[in-house]
Amino acid sequence: MAAINRLCVYCGSSRGTDDRYREAAVRLGTLIAEAGIELVYGGGRVGLMGLIADAALARNGRVTGVIPGHLHDREVAHPNARLVIVASMHERKQRLFDLADGFVTLPGGLGTLDETIEIVTWKQLGLHDKPIVVVDVEGYWAPFAALVEHTIAHGFAPAAARDYFRTVASVAEVLPALAAMPEPSIAGDSRLA
Ligand code: AMP
Repeated sequence: MAAINRLCVYCGSSRGTDDRYREAAVRLGTLIAEAGIELVYGGGRVGLMGLIADAALARNGRVTGVIPGHLHDREVAHPNARLVIVASMHERKQRLFDLADGFVTLPGGLGTLDETIEIVTWKQLGLHDKPIVVVDVEGYWAPFAALVEHTIAHGFAPAAARDYFRTVASVAEVLPALAAMPEPSIAGDSRLA
């Protein structure tokens, strides 16, 4: 069973069109804090990012945001999170990876998609085997799952690609899913340095 002390959540810097996306972010922030897990995220105060951080902080959760200096103003860095200011997007992604014991993707835009695909492809390359959970809130990530199936069907990804991440339907399933996944055995951060 994977022990999760710090959980990285990728999610939109926008709020999306459906209230249920917002509810999912608030609920997950609450659940993470109540479980005594530290939330690690992109450091913004806007969109779902802001909602999940606010929810965790409201429950006295520990929240660490990793944000590049150039986004500090644009994404409005969260005033109450512990902030790690980095020089670039690449450094942000590396730091988020190094800090986290596992990864969760909520609904989001192209940035969320990029971050999710990167962490999945790092697993494909054997650089880590930390657990990854995609939360398919209201079927939001069904096109992502279909795209992965498409790459498998056309011979560009192995069938094992299905196992690089786990998809769940609601945030209530996130922590149980993470707990049920195997303990990582690869010291990923040193290999990525
Ligand atoms: P989005 O899902 O587009 O709202 O973005 C969610 C987060 O991903 C935000 O913190 C963005 O700064 C970040 N982001 C956007 N583009 C990229 C990228 N190319 N690489 C890494 N992170 C990104």
